[in-house]
Amino acid sequence: MIACLGRIVQDTDADSIPDDDVSTLSESLDLQGTIESGGITGVAGKDFGGLYSVKPLALIKPSGTEDIARVVKAASQTSHLTVAARGNGHSINGQAMADGGFVIDMRSTEENHFKPLTIDGSHYIDVSGGALWEDVLRRCVSMFRLAPRSWTDYLSLTVGGTLSNAGVSGQAFRFGPQTSNVTELEVVTGKGEITVCSATQNSELFFGALGGLGQLGIITRARVKLQPAPDMVRWLRVVYTEFEEFTRDAEFLVTQEEGESFDYVEGFVFSNSDDPINGWPSVPLDPDHEFNPAYIPQTASSVLYCLEVALHYRNSDRPSTVDTAVSRLLERLGFIQRLKFQLNVSYVEFLLRVKQVEEHAKANGNWDSPHPWLNIFISKSSIVDFDRTVFRKMLKDGVGGPMLIYPLLRSKWNSRTSVVLPEGEIFYIVALLRFVPKGPTVEKLVAQNHEIIKWCNKEGLDFKLYLPHYQSKEDWKRHFGNQWTRFVERKTSFDPMAILAPGQKIFKRTHTIKP
Ligand code: FAD
Repeated sequence: MIACLGRIVQDTDADSIPDDDVSTLSESLDLQGTIESGGITGVAGKDFGGLYSVKPLALIKPSGTEDIARVVKAASQTSHLTVAARGNGHSINGQAMADGGFVIDMRSTEENHFKPLTIDGSHYIDVSGGALWEDVLRRCVSMFRLAPRSWTDYLSLTVGGTLSNAGVSGQAFRFGPQTSNVTELEVVTGKGEITVCSATQNSELFFGALGGLGQLGIITRARVKLQPAPDMVRWLRVVYTEFEEFTRDAEFLVTQEEGESFDYVEGFVFSNSDDPINGWPSVPLDPDHEFNPAYIPQTASSVLYCLEVALHYRNSDRPSTVDTAVSRLLERLGFIQRLKFQLNVSYVEFLLRVKQVEEHAKANGNWDSPHPWLNIFISKSSIVDFDRTVFRKMLKDGVGGPMLIYPLLRSKWNSRTSVVLPEGEIFYIVALLRFVPKGPTVEKLVAQNHEIIKWCNKEGLDFKLYLPHYQSKEDWKRHFGNQWTRFVERKTSFDPMAILAPGQKIFKRTHTIKP
């Protein structure tokens, strides 16, 4: 098998494999799944960001964990082959790519492992690392009336892909990121070993793989905590002119006990203009809602702030009970009273809300345009400075898409995972979700992202990139800070030849060939 792989790789000079060789390789790897020649036009060489493309050697569609282990083992027997797990390819900067290496299409395993469990009275679901969160949601709700507790805003992302980063949304203030809501993983390490791990069994691998940017292993199964699924959601947006009032209210809500706050808290910045994408029209939840700018105080600046919250309820609850609970919470907040928008939607509809945006963007061609996104975690101590310079000046006309900002609590994140956070209990996620047409603007916007990061560094802001992307080892060292040594030790233990997730550009494949 190895001889065959070596010949193919040499013959093709690490380019995509000719079709004849694909079947030979498939046989020699003894795969239950299938293998396709890579190629720059193929899905394996692209991602949602649309900023990078590379030529993989081949795209593997495994039938399960054993296939994945075989591919990693085979790569480990060569001097230079790498392996990238590809979730749904929703990375921005080529993180799920493998230049001249194997890309594993995790979606081909999405049906595997789906199994509910009850342990000590608590409910869990075992799911494939290649499952889409939207499918986990639909199946759990329709079959068991249960649902995971912590989400991302958009659910066409894979379980393994978000767990390799963190997975955050408006529920994370209460339950922590998705990485805080799994209790067991099955992982294929960079040595091709299949290992089950948890907080008590192979714990270094378990915590290391969570937020581990795919560096320590390929997550093939995850055990996800569940809770009873509500039927309905009261979804609200309220508008602020002052950043200090917006952050005070958001921080108030995320620090209240369960039952004393909303179930979901997010927010965004928007331009004080009639721009259809970046301005007032981006606020209403329904085409019937009207945003009347006459209600905006004269003192308002170039940007405004919108707090987005949601409260769960059951069909059996009386509408008046929901109204009372919402009014009681809103009474404590200092938004512009006449700029309040609300809607009742089913719980599943609420969680799938970005799907509608996707369909709309696909219809007008924006979904496939480049997305030079920037995601940053910024500590509470630095967020006012960030607003003053970045939102109010650099980005006052918007970014051609949402500019999210909402607070999270460090105590809900496990410090043993590989995720890197700023200091302090309260920090904000800022997400600049740019949708831009192809062309020179893309470079300008990438440059603007760099300018923002440069400014944060220059001003000494306490921040870390989320979904980080760096080109040099020095930058990665700085990113991990005092967690770098631990991360390198974990890499040495679980992927000593740096075979996995080469698109993150953290470690270089070493040439050590196993005896
Ligand atoms: P990919 O992009 O395919 O992979 C990401 C990285 O993980 C790669 O390095 C890959 O090699 C590795 N990887 C993939 N699968 C596995 C696996 N099974 N085991 C180990 N490593 C693996 N993130 C949030 O936290 N919150 C949000 O609300 C949110 N919203 C988003 C909305 C949109 C429209 C998009 C495009 C992205 C959003 N993200 C959000 C970012 C998302 O979490 C990342 O893109 C993440 O990478 C998941 O995408 P994916 O499943 O397509 O993984």
